[in-house]
Amino acid sequence: MSDKTKSEELKERLFIKKKNGRLLSDEAVLCKAEEFCVGYKKFLDAAKTERMAVDAAIEIAKKAGFLEYERGKKYKAGDRYFVNNRGKALALVCVGQEAADKGVRITAAHIDSPRLDLKPNPLYEEIELALFKTHYYGGIRKYQWTAVPLALHGVFVKRDGTKVNVNIGEDDNDPKFVVNDLLPHLAAEQSKRTLADGIRGEELNVLIGSHPFRDDKGSELVKLNILKLLNEKYGITESDFLSAELECVPAVKACDIGLDRSMIGAYGQDDRVCAYPAIMAAIDTKAPKQTLITVLADKEETGSSGNTGLESSFLKYLVFDIAEMQGVDCTVALRNSKCLSADVNAGTDPTFQDVMERRNAAFLNYGVVITKYTGARGKSGTSDASAEYVAEIREMLDNAGVVWQTGELGKVDAGGGGTVAMYIANLGVDVVDLGVPVLSMHAPFETTAKFDIYMAYLAMKAFAE
Ligand code: MN
Ligand code: MN
Repeated sequence: MSDKTKSEELKERLFIKKKNGRLLSDEAVLCKAEEFCVGYKKFLDAAKTERMAVDAAIEIAKKAGFLEYERGKKYKAGDRYFVNNRGKALALVCVGQEAADKGVRITAAHIDSPRLDLKPNPLYEEIELALFKTHYYGGIRKYQWTAVPLALHGVFVKRDGTKVNVNIGEDDNDPKFVVNDLLPHLAAEQSKRTLADGIRGEELNVLIGSHPFRDDKGSELVKLNILKLLNEKYGITESDFLSAELECVPAVKACDIGLDRSMIGAYGQDDRVCAYPAIMAAIDTKAPKQTLITVLADKEETGSSGNTGLESSFLKYLVFDIAEMQGVDCTVALRNSKCLSADVNAGTDPTFQDVMERRNAAFLNYGVVITKYTGARGKSGTSDASAEYVAEIREMLDNAGVVWQTGELGKVDAGGGGTVAMYIANLGVDVVDLGVPVLSMHAPFETTAKFDIYMAYLAMKAFAE
Protein backbone atom coordinates (compact mmCIF):
# COMPACT_ATOMS: atom_id res chain seq x y z
CA MET A 1 0.00 0.00 0.00
CA SER A 2 1.39 3.38 -0.92
CA ASP A 3 0.69 6.34 1.34
CA LYS A 4 0.56 8.60 -1.69
CA THR A 5 -2.58 10.61 -2.27
CA LYS A 6 -4.44 10.26 -5.56
CA SER A 7 -3.10 13.57 -6.80
CA GLU A 8 0.46 12.59 -5.91
CA GLU A 9 0.11 9.32 -7.79
CA LEU A 10 -1.38 11.03 -10.80
CA LYS A 11 1.30 13.72 -10.77
CA GLU A 12 3.98 11.09 -10.68
CA ARG A 13 2.46 9.51 -13.75
CA LEU A 14 1.79 12.70 -15.72
CA PHE A 15 4.24 15.42 -14.76
CA ILE A 16 7.78 15.85 -16.03
CA LYS A 17 10.22 14.79 -13.34
CA LYS A 18 13.10 17.18 -12.91
CA LYS A 19 15.63 16.57 -10.21
CA ASN A 20 19.18 17.44 -9.34
CA GLY A 21 21.31 14.66 -10.81
CA ARG A 22 23.55 14.63 -7.76
CA LEU A 23 20.52 13.68 -5.65
CA LEU A 24 19.17 11.26 -8.22
CA SER A 25 22.33 9.26 -8.88
CA ASP A 26 24.19 6.54 -7.03
CA GLU A 27 27.43 7.40 -5.31
CA ALA A 28 29.22 5.20 -7.87
CA VAL A 29 28.06 7.45 -10.73
CA LEU A 30 29.35 10.53 -8.92
CA CYS A 31 32.71 8.79 -8.40
CA LYS A 32 32.90 7.98 -12.11
CA ALA A 33 32.10 11.61 -12.93
CA GLU A 34 34.94 12.71 -10.69
CA GLU A 35 37.35 10.27 -12.36
CA PHE A 36 36.25 11.27 -15.84
CA CYS A 37 36.94 14.92 -15.08
CA VAL A 38 40.55 14.24 -14.07
CA GLY A 39 41.25 13.43 -17.72
CA TYR A 40 39.11 16.34 -18.84
CA LYS A 41 41.12 18.87 -16.85
CA LYS A 42 44.35 17.49 -18.34
CA PHE A 43 42.86 17.84 -21.81
CA LEU A 44 41.82 21.44 -21.12
CA ASP A 45 45.36 22.39 -20.09
CA ALA A 46 46.83 20.76 -23.20
CA ALA A 47 44.19 21.98 -25.66
CA LYS A 48 44.12 25.76 -25.27
CA THR A 49 43.72 26.44 -29.01
CA GLU A 50 42.21 24.54 -31.94
CA ARG A 51 45.67 23.44 -33.13
CA MET A 52 46.63 22.25 -29.65
CA ALA A 53 43.27 20.49 -29.30
CA VAL A 54 43.90 18.60 -32.56
CA ASP A 55 47.34 17.54 -31.31
CA ALA A 56 45.96 16.49 -27.92
CA ALA A 57 43.09 14.54 -29.53
CA ILE A 58 45.47 12.77 -31.94
CA GLU A 59 47.69 11.77 -29.03
CA ILE A 60 44.72 10.24 -27.18
CA ALA A 61 43.44 8.56 -30.36
CA LYS A 62 46.84 7.10 -31.31
CA LYS A 63 47.21 5.57 -27.85
CA ALA A 64 43.83 3.91 -28.42
CA GLY A 65 44.99 2.49 -31.76
CA PHE A 66 43.60 5.00 -34.25
CA LEU A 67 45.81 5.34 -37.33
CA GLU A 68 46.18 8.26 -39.71
CA TYR A 69 43.80 8.02 -42.68
CA GLU A 70 45.29 6.76 -45.95
CA ARG A 71 43.33 7.61 -49.05
CA GLY A 72 42.53 4.56 -51.18
CA LYS A 73 43.02 2.11 -48.31
CA LYS A 74 40.18 -0.38 -47.75
CA TYR A 75 38.94 -0.07 -44.20
CA LYS A 76 36.81 -2.82 -42.68
CA ALA A 77 34.40 -2.94 -39.75
CA GLY A 78 36.22 -2.23 -36.49
CA ASP A 79 39.02 -0.21 -38.12
CA ARG A 80 39.65 3.16 -36.54
CA TYR A 81 41.37 6.13 -38.12
CA PHE A 82 41.66 9.89 -37.88
CA VAL A 83 41.49 12.56 -40.58
CA ASN A 84 43.47 15.70 -39.84
CA ASN A 85 42.15 18.83 -41.56
CA ARG A 86 45.08 21.29 -41.69
CA GLY A 87 45.97 20.72 -38.05
CA LYS A 88 42.92 22.73 -36.97
CA ALA A 89 40.02 20.31 -37.31
CA LEU A 90 39.92 16.57 -36.85
CA ALA A 91 37.64 13.61 -37.44
CA LEU A 92 37.87 10.28 -35.64
CA VAL A 93 36.28 7.45 -37.59
CA CYS A 94 35.22 4.06 -36.18
CA VAL A 95 34.12 1.95 -39.14
CA GLY A 96 30.81 0.22 -38.43
CA GLN A 97 29.48 -3.19 -39.32
CA GLU A 98 26.83 -1.75 -41.64
CA ALA A 99 27.66 -0.01 -44.90
CA ALA A 100 27.43 3.77 -44.90
CA ASP A 101 24.27 3.89 -47.04
CA LYS A 102 22.42 2.65 -43.94
CA GLY A 103 23.58 5.94 -42.40
CA VAL A 104 26.50 6.97 -40.25
CA ARG A 105 26.46 8.48 -36.76
CA ILE A 106 28.11 11.86 -36.38
CA THR A 107 29.06 13.60 -33.14
CA ALA A 108 30.27 17.12 -33.87
CA ALA A 109 31.88 19.40 -31.29
CA HIS A 110 34.08 22.44 -31.87
CA ILE A 111 37.56 23.06 -30.54
CA ASP A 112 37.99 26.78 -31.25
CA SER A 113 37.18 29.23 -28.45
CA PRO A 114 36.91 33.00 -28.15
CA ARG A 115 40.32 34.64 -27.78
CA LEU A 116 42.57 37.48 -28.91
CA ASP A 117 44.31 36.85 -32.23
CA LEU A 118 47.38 38.88 -33.16
CA LYS A 119 46.88 41.16 -36.15
CA PRO A 120 49.04 40.44 -39.24
CA ASN A 121 51.27 43.37 -38.30
CA PRO A 122 51.01 43.29 -34.51
CA LEU A 123 54.27 44.49 -33.01
CA TYR A 124 54.74 48.12 -32.00
CA GLU A 125 56.36 50.34 -29.42
CA GLU A 126 54.73 53.20 -27.55
CA ILE A 127 56.38 55.26 -24.75
CA GLU A 128 59.15 52.66 -24.56
CA LEU A 129 56.82 49.71 -24.01
CA ALA A 130 56.32 46.97 -26.61
CA LEU A 131 52.84 45.69 -27.40
CA PHE A 132 50.86 43.46 -29.77
CA LYS A 133 47.79 44.72 -31.61
CA THR A 134 45.02 42.11 -31.49
CA HIS A 135 41.80 41.35 -33.30
CA TYR A 136 39.40 39.46 -31.08
CA TYR A 137 38.04 36.13 -32.31
CA GLY A 138 34.46 35.11 -31.52
CA GLY A 139 31.94 36.78 -29.26
CA ILE A 140 33.76 38.21 -26.29
CA ARG A 141 32.78 40.77 -23.69
CA LYS A 142 35.91 42.85 -24.18
CA TYR A 143 36.11 44.28 -20.65
CA GLN A 144 36.60 40.72 -19.28
CA TRP A 145 39.91 40.34 -21.11
CA THR A 146 41.88 43.04 -19.32
CA ALA A 147 44.14 42.46 -16.34
CA VAL A 148 44.20 38.68 -16.71
CA PRO A 149 47.42 36.76 -17.44
CA LEU A 150 47.62 35.63 -21.06
CA ALA A 151 49.58 32.94 -22.85
CA LEU A 152 50.61 33.04 -26.52
CA HIS A 153 50.13 30.06 -28.83
CA GLY A 154 50.27 29.37 -32.51
CA VAL A 155 52.59 29.14 -35.46
CA PHE A 156 54.90 31.21 -37.61
CA VAL A 157 55.23 29.82 -41.13
CA LYS A 158 58.27 31.17 -42.93
CA ARG A 159 58.36 31.79 -46.67
CA ASP A 160 60.13 28.48 -47.28
CA GLY A 161 57.27 26.68 -45.50
CA THR A 162 59.16 26.00 -42.27
CA LYS A 163 56.70 25.99 -39.41
CA VAL A 164 57.69 27.22 -35.97
CA ASN A 165 55.45 26.45 -33.00
CA VAL A 166 54.97 29.06 -30.32
CA ASN A 167 53.89 28.08 -26.81
CA ILE A 168 54.63 30.66 -24.11
CA GLY A 169 52.90 31.21 -20.80
CA GLU A 170 51.57 27.81 -19.75
CA ASP A 171 54.54 26.71 -17.65
CA ASP A 172 54.71 28.22 -14.16
CA ASN A 173 58.17 29.61 -15.01
CA ASP A 174 57.08 31.07 -18.36
CA PRO A 175 56.50 34.78 -18.73
CA LYS A 176 52.88 35.82 -19.34
CA PHE A 177 51.30 38.74 -21.15
CA VAL A 178 48.51 41.15 -20.24
CA VAL A 179 46.04 43.68 -21.61
CA ASN A 180 46.05 46.55 -19.15
CA ASP A 181 43.09 48.64 -18.03
CA LEU A 182 42.72 52.05 -16.45
CA LEU A 183 43.03 52.53 -12.71
CA PRO A 184 39.72 53.50 -11.05
CA HIS A 185 41.24 56.80 -9.93
CA LEU A 186 41.44 57.98 -13.53
CA ALA A 187 38.54 56.03 -15.01
CA ALA A 188 35.81 58.61 -14.48
CA GLU A 189 35.37 59.22 -18.22
CA GLN A 190 35.78 55.57 -19.21
CA SER A 191 33.23 54.54 -16.58
CA LYS A 192 30.58 56.58 -18.38
CA ARG A 193 30.88 54.28 -21.39
CA THR A 194 28.35 51.48 -21.74
CA LEU A 195 29.53 48.04 -20.63
CA ALA A 196 29.67 46.88 -24.28
CA ASP A 197 31.96 49.80 -25.04
CA GLY A 198 33.88 49.73 -21.73
CA ILE A 199 36.95 48.36 -23.47
CA ARG A 200 37.10 48.88 -27.23
CA GLY A 201 38.54 46.54 -29.83
CA GLU A 202 41.54 48.79 -30.45
CA GLU A 203 42.22 48.94 -26.71
CA LEU A 204 42.88 45.21 -26.49
CA ASN A 205 46.63 45.71 -26.79
CA VAL A 206 48.86 43.09 -25.20
CA LEU A 207 51.90 44.23 -23.21
CA ILE A 208 54.95 42.16 -24.15
CA GLY A 209 58.08 44.05 -23.08
CA SER A 210 59.82 47.08 -21.62
CA HIS A 211 63.54 46.39 -21.89
CA PRO A 212 65.38 48.47 -24.56
CA PHE A 213 68.17 47.05 -26.70
CA ARG A 214 71.18 48.60 -24.93
CA ASP A 215 73.93 48.90 -27.55
CA ASP A 216 72.36 51.59 -29.67
CA LYS A 217 71.00 55.12 -29.59
CA GLY A 218 68.20 54.72 -32.18
CA SER A 219 64.44 54.68 -31.75
CA GLU A 220 62.11 51.72 -31.06
CA LEU A 221 64.72 49.96 -28.96
CA VAL A 222 62.20 47.98 -26.90
CA LYS A 223 60.55 46.66 -30.06
CA LEU A 224 64.02 45.93 -31.44
CA ASN A 225 64.93 43.93 -28.36
CA ILE A 226 61.68 41.93 -28.59
CA LEU A 227 62.41 41.12 -32.24
CA LYS A 228 65.96 40.13 -31.31
CA LEU A 229 64.57 37.71 -28.69
CA LEU A 230 62.05 36.30 -31.17
CA ASN A 231 64.75 35.97 -33.81
CA GLU A 232 67.04 34.11 -31.43
CA LYS A 233 64.28 31.77 -30.28
CA TYR A 234 62.34 31.19 -33.50
CA GLY A 235 64.57 32.49 -36.28
CA ILE A 236 61.87 34.90 -37.44
CA THR A 237 61.86 38.53 -38.52
CA GLU A 238 59.01 41.06 -38.32
CA SER A 239 57.63 40.12 -41.73
CA ASP A 240 57.07 36.53 -40.56
CA PHE A 241 54.13 37.79 -38.48
CA LEU A 242 52.34 38.20 -41.83
CA SER A 243 52.19 34.43 -42.28
CA ALA A 244 51.49 33.48 -38.69
CA GLU A 245 48.52 32.47 -36.59
CA LEU A 246 49.16 33.59 -33.04
CA GLU A 247 46.51 33.54 -30.38
CA CYS A 248 46.43 35.02 -26.88
CA VAL A 249 44.45 32.91 -24.44
CA PRO A 250 44.11 33.10 -20.65
CA ALA A 251 47.18 31.62 -18.94
CA VAL A 252 45.11 29.83 -16.34
CA LYS A 253 44.89 26.12 -15.64
CA ALA A 254 41.74 24.11 -15.21
CA CYS A 255 40.77 23.61 -11.58
CA ASP A 256 37.98 22.46 -9.32
CA ILE A 257 35.45 25.07 -8.25
CA GLY A 258 33.66 25.02 -4.92
CA LEU A 259 34.45 23.69 -1.46
CA ASP A 260 32.68 20.51 -2.54
CA ARG A 261 34.78 20.38 -5.75
CA SER A 262 31.65 19.63 -7.76
CA MET A 263 32.46 22.03 -10.61
CA ILE A 264 35.30 22.91 -12.98
CA GLY A 265 36.63 26.33 -13.87
CA ALA A 266 38.77 26.81 -16.98
CA TYR A 267 39.24 28.72 -20.19
CA GLY A 268 37.75 27.33 -23.41
CA GLN A 269 35.17 24.95 -21.99
CA ASP A 270 32.88 26.09 -24.83
CA ASP A 271 33.23 23.70 -26.50
CA ARG A 272 36.01 21.46 -25.20
CA VAL A 273 33.56 20.36 -22.52
CA CYS A 274 31.75 18.55 -25.35
CA ALA A 275 34.83 17.78 -27.45
CA TYR A 276 36.47 15.74 -24.69
CA PRO A 277 33.43 13.52 -23.98
CA ALA A 278 33.05 13.09 -27.76
CA ILE A 279 36.68 11.96 -28.09
CA MET A 280 36.35 9.58 -25.15
CA ALA A 281 33.09 8.16 -26.50
CA ALA A 282 34.90 7.45 -29.81
CA ILE A 283 37.84 5.87 -27.98
CA ASP A 284 35.49 3.63 -25.97
CA THR A 285 33.46 2.54 -29.02
CA LYS A 286 35.13 -0.54 -30.45
CA ALA A 287 32.92 -2.04 -33.18
CA PRO A 288 29.80 0.06 -33.65
CA LYS A 289 26.85 -1.05 -35.77
CA GLN A 290 26.92 2.14 -37.80
CA THR A 291 30.12 3.99 -38.66
CA LEU A 292 30.85 6.63 -36.02
CA ILE A 293 32.38 9.92 -37.09
CA THR A 294 33.51 12.24 -34.32
CA VAL A 295 34.16 15.69 -35.72
CA LEU A 296 36.19 18.30 -33.87
CA ALA A 297 35.52 21.45 -35.84
CA ASP A 298 37.26 24.79 -36.03
CA LYS A 299 35.73 28.23 -36.69
CA GLU A 300 32.40 27.65 -34.94
CA GLU A 301 32.86 30.82 -32.92
CA THR A 302 33.11 32.91 -36.07
CA GLY A 303 30.15 31.29 -37.84
CA SER A 304 31.70 28.02 -39.14
CA SER A 305 32.99 29.65 -42.35
CA GLY A 306 36.34 28.59 -43.80
CA ASN A 307 37.79 25.25 -44.84
CA THR A 308 38.26 24.01 -41.27
CA GLY A 309 34.72 25.02 -40.25
CA LEU A 310 31.60 22.95 -40.70
CA GLU A 311 30.06 25.18 -43.33
CA SER A 312 32.77 23.69 -45.58
CA SER A 313 32.54 20.34 -47.37
CA PHE A 314 34.99 18.69 -44.95
CA LEU A 315 32.38 16.46 -43.30
CA LYS A 316 30.43 15.84 -46.50
CA TYR A 317 33.52 14.60 -48.37
CA LEU A 318 34.53 12.51 -45.38
CA VAL A 319 31.22 10.64 -45.58
CA PHE A 320 31.55 10.44 -49.39
CA ASP A 321 35.02 8.86 -49.00
CA ILE A 322 33.62 6.18 -46.71
CA ALA A 323 30.65 5.47 -49.02
CA GLU A 324 32.91 5.36 -52.08
CA MET A 325 35.27 2.95 -50.37
CA GLN A 326 32.32 0.68 -49.55
CA GLY A 327 30.84 1.06 -53.04
CA VAL A 328 27.56 2.53 -51.82
CA ASP A 329 25.66 5.70 -52.73
CA CYS A 330 27.13 8.70 -50.94
CA THR A 331 24.06 10.95 -50.92
CA VAL A 332 21.93 8.11 -49.55
CA ALA A 333 24.56 7.74 -46.82
CA LEU A 334 24.10 11.37 -45.82
CA ARG A 335 20.32 11.23 -45.97
CA ASN A 336 20.20 8.26 -43.59
CA SER A 337 22.71 9.72 -41.15
CA LYS A 338 22.13 11.07 -37.67
CA CYS A 339 24.03 13.63 -35.69
CA LEU A 340 24.53 15.02 -32.23
CA SER A 341 25.71 18.59 -32.52
CA ALA A 342 27.64 18.56 -29.28
CA ASP A 343 27.75 22.12 -28.04
CA VAL A 344 27.20 23.94 -24.79
CA ASN A 345 24.13 25.81 -23.64
CA ALA A 346 23.81 28.56 -21.07
CA GLY A 347 23.42 27.35 -17.50
CA THR A 348 21.14 29.42 -15.28
CA ASP A 349 23.20 31.76 -13.13
CA PRO A 350 21.68 32.50 -9.70
CA THR A 351 22.74 36.14 -10.05
CA PHE A 352 21.35 36.64 -13.55
CA GLN A 353 18.18 34.58 -13.58
CA ASP A 354 16.15 37.27 -15.29
CA VAL A 355 17.57 36.50 -18.76
CA MET A 356 16.28 32.92 -18.49
CA GLU A 357 12.81 31.48 -18.68
CA ARG A 358 12.87 29.03 -15.79
CA ARG A 359 10.65 26.37 -17.28
CA ASN A 360 12.87 26.07 -20.34
CA ALA A 361 16.29 26.87 -18.94
CA ALA A 362 19.20 24.54 -18.22
CA PHE A 363 20.56 24.14 -14.68
CA LEU A 364 23.89 22.91 -13.37
CA ASN A 365 23.82 19.28 -12.19
CA TYR A 366 20.56 18.55 -14.02
CA GLY A 367 22.46 16.58 -16.65
CA VAL A 368 23.25 16.92 -20.31
CA VAL A 369 21.10 19.47 -22.18
CA ILE A 370 19.07 18.75 -25.29
CA THR A 371 18.52 21.96 -27.26
CA LYS A 372 15.87 21.47 -29.92
CA TYR A 373 16.63 24.77 -31.61
CA THR A 374 18.83 27.81 -31.10
CA GLY A 375 18.70 30.97 -33.24
CA ALA A 376 17.51 34.46 -32.44
CA ARG A 377 14.15 36.28 -32.44
CA GLY A 378 11.61 34.06 -34.23
CA LYS A 379 13.99 31.06 -34.33
CA SER A 380 16.01 32.78 -37.04
CA GLY A 381 19.14 30.96 -38.19
CA THR A 382 18.65 27.56 -36.60
CA SER A 383 18.04 23.93 -37.38
CA ASP A 384 14.94 22.98 -35.39
CA ALA A 385 15.29 19.25 -34.69
CA SER A 386 12.24 17.24 -35.69
CA ALA A 387 9.90 15.83 -33.06
CA GLU A 388 10.62 12.39 -34.53
CA TYR A 389 14.37 12.72 -33.99
CA VAL A 390 14.04 14.21 -30.51
CA ALA A 391 11.77 11.29 -29.55
CA GLU A 392 14.45 8.85 -30.73
CA ILE A 393 17.16 10.64 -28.72
CA ARG A 394 14.90 10.78 -25.62
CA GLU A 395 14.32 7.06 -25.81
CA MET A 396 18.04 6.43 -26.27
CA LEU A 397 19.05 8.60 -23.28
CA ASP A 398 16.44 7.13 -20.94
CA ASN A 399 17.38 3.59 -21.89
CA ALA A 400 21.04 4.34 -21.20
CA GLY A 401 20.24 5.86 -17.79
CA VAL A 402 21.53 9.29 -18.79
CA VAL A 403 20.31 12.24 -16.70
CA TRP A 404 19.25 14.94 -19.14
CA GLN A 405 17.29 18.15 -19.38
CA THR A 406 16.17 20.54 -22.06
CA GLY A 407 17.27 24.12 -22.45
CA GLU A 408 16.59 27.17 -24.53
CA LEU A 409 19.29 29.81 -24.88
CA GLY A 410 17.61 32.36 -22.61
CA LYS A 411 14.29 34.15 -22.83
CA VAL A 412 12.61 34.79 -26.17
CA ASP A 413 14.11 37.98 -27.64
CA ALA A 414 16.75 38.19 -24.89
CA GLY A 415 19.47 37.42 -27.42
CA GLY A 416 20.36 34.19 -29.19
CA GLY A 417 23.08 32.13 -30.74
CA GLY A 418 23.85 29.26 -33.04
CA THR A 419 25.82 26.05 -33.35
CA VAL A 420 27.09 23.82 -36.17
CA ALA A 421 23.72 22.02 -36.20
CA MET A 422 22.32 24.01 -39.13
CA TYR A 423 25.31 23.29 -41.36
CA ILE A 424 25.02 19.56 -40.72
CA ALA A 425 21.25 19.71 -41.23
CA ASN A 426 21.98 21.28 -44.64
CA LEU A 427 23.55 17.95 -45.66
CA GLY A 428 20.21 16.24 -45.10
CA VAL A 429 21.30 14.70 -41.81
CA ASP A 430 19.01 14.54 -38.74
CA VAL A 431 20.63 16.64 -36.05
CA VAL A 432 19.94 17.92 -32.55
CA ASP A 433 22.08 19.93 -30.15
CA LEU A 434 23.25 18.18 -27.01
CA GLY A 435 25.77 19.52 -24.53
CA VAL A 436 26.80 20.78 -21.14
CA PRO A 437 25.39 23.89 -19.41
CA VAL A 438 28.05 26.55 -18.81
CA LEU A 439 28.23 29.61 -16.57
CA SER A 440 30.14 32.71 -17.78
CA MET A 441 30.18 31.30 -21.32
CA HIS A 442 32.83 32.97 -23.56
CA ALA A 443 34.54 34.58 -20.55
CA PRO A 444 38.27 33.95 -19.97
CA PHE A 445 37.22 31.54 -17.21
CA GLU A 446 34.07 29.45 -17.63
CA THR A 447 32.33 27.19 -15.11
CA THR A 448 30.70 23.78 -15.61
CA ALA A 449 29.50 20.95 -13.36
CA LYS A 450 31.34 17.61 -13.32
CA PHE A 451 28.11 15.64 -13.20
CA ASP A 452 26.83 17.20 -16.44
CA ILE A 453 30.14 16.52 -18.20
CA TYR A 454 29.97 12.84 -17.34
CA MET A 455 26.35 12.70 -18.50
CA ALA A 456 27.46 14.22 -21.81
CA TYR A 457 29.96 11.38 -22.16
CA LEU A 458 27.32 8.74 -21.36
CA ALA A 459 24.96 10.33 -23.89
CA MET A 460 27.57 10.34 -26.66
CA LYS A 461 28.59 6.79 -25.79
CA ALA A 462 24.97 5.64 -26.04
CA PHE A 463 24.62 7.44 -29.37
CA ALA A 464 27.78 5.80 -30.72
CA GLU A 465 26.52 2.34 -29.88
MN1 MN B 1 30.00 26.42 -28.64
MN1 MN C 1 30.52 29.66 -28.22
